Amino acid sequence: METTLNNVAIEKVKNSKIHDVDFDNLSFGSVYTDHMLVCDYKDGKWMAPKIVPYQPITLDPSAKIFHYGQSIFEGMKAYKDEDGKVWLFRPLENFKRFNKSAERLAIPELPESHFMDGLLALINLESDWVPQNPGSSLYIRPFMFASGKGFHASPANEYKFIIACAPSGSYFSGKVKVLIEETYSRAANGGVGYAKAGGNYAGQFYPTKLAAEKGYQQVIWTDDNTHEFIEEAGAMNVFVRINDTLMTAPTSDRILDGITRKSILDIANDMGIKTEVRKISVHELVEAANNGTLKEMFGAGTAAVVSPISGFGYHGKDYELPEVTNSYADQLKKRITDIQYNRAEDKFGWRYPVE
Ligand SMILES: *Cc1c(COP(=O)(O)O)cnc(C)c1O
Repeated sequence: METTLNNVAIEKVKNSKIHDVDFDNLSFGSVYTDHMLVCDYKDGKWMAPKIVPYQPITLDPSAKIFHYGQSIFEGMKAYKDEDGKVWLFRPLENFKRFNKSAERLAIPELPESHFMDGLLALINLESDWVPQNPGSSLYIRPFMFASGKGFHASPANEYKFIIACAPSGSYFSGKVKVLIEETYSRAANGGVGYAKAGGNYAGQFYPTKLAAEKGYQQVIWTDDNTHEFIEEAGAMNVFVRINDTLMTAPTSDRILDGITRKSILDIANDMGIKTEVRKISVHELVEAANNGTLKEMFGAGTAAVVSPISGFGYHGKDYELPEVTNSYADQLKKRITDIQYNRAEDKFGWRYPVE
C-alpha cells in the first residue's frame, strides 16, 4: 500500500512483525522495526526519501564503502511518555553533527528537510514500536555510506542514507572497570575523531579486546601525542568528579562533540554544580585517587546516558573509586531522562514532539 506522511512516500509492510517481539525482554539494538527510511544520492543530488519495508540492501562488490570506508552514522532515541506521546531529544543537533561528519568524509551533505521530514515520518509510522517500559526507548540509527562503484581511491559518486530503528531495553550494565590507554589512540590531531565515522569504531575494537583480556570492560582514550590527558571513555565522553567539581575534556578534532555531554554540562550548571571544561591529566587522576578526592568517573552518551566507572587501571596498578551516595551520575541521569520522558519541565527546550 502506498501512502505519504510529511510528504514522504510510504510503502507499508503487508504483515507487521510487532506481535513477535517480547517488549518485556528487549536487549540493545538487536530487533528492528517494520520499516526503514531510504534516500539515494545520484547524478549530483539527493533524491526524495521514502519509507519501505525493513530489508537487506544489495551492493556491488566494488562499492566504495567496502574498500575506502566512507561511512558515517548517528545515534538517537525516541521516548514514550505516560500518555503514549512520543518525543525526540535535540534531533537537530544530530542532524548538524551528521553533516559535519559527512563533510569530513567527503560525503555529500544532506538537506535538513530530508533528514527531519524523513525521521518524523518514520517515527510516526513506527510509534507503536516505541516501548513504554521504564528505561526503554526506540533506538534510532541514521547512517550514510558510499554505495557507488569503483576500485579507484576517490570519493564515490553514489551514496545511500538510511534510518533504521530498534526498540531497546534499558542499557544499564552495572559499573565498569576501565583501563587508561597508553599505547593505542582512538583519534589523532587533524584526523576524523570528531566525526561519527565507522572506521573510528573499527580502530577501537582491538585495543578494547586487549583491555578485556586484562579484565577491563572499557578503555579510557588519552591524547595521541603524550597519552597524558584523558579524552573519552570508549565510545562515550568522559566526566570526572574531584571533590565537588565536575570536569570533562574540551572538544577538539580528536573528541566527539556529544549531545549528552553538553546537556549534562548545562544541567549541572543549572543545578549549581561547579563544572570545569579543561584538560584532565592522568597524573591528576592518580593523585586524586590516592588522596581520596576522586569521587566519581562516568561515561556519557545517548545509549546509556551515563555509565558509572568503578575504578581504573594505569601502569599495571588498579585504583578503586569510592561508593558515593547521591552521586552526580545518578542525579544527572535522573534529570536528563526526566526531560527525555516528559516527566519534568523542559526549561532548555530540548524535547521535540513526534506528530
Ligand atoms: C556518539 C559518541 C559519543 C556520545 O555522543 P552523544 O551525542 O551524547 O550520543 C561520545 N563519543 C563518541 C566517540 C561517540 O561516538
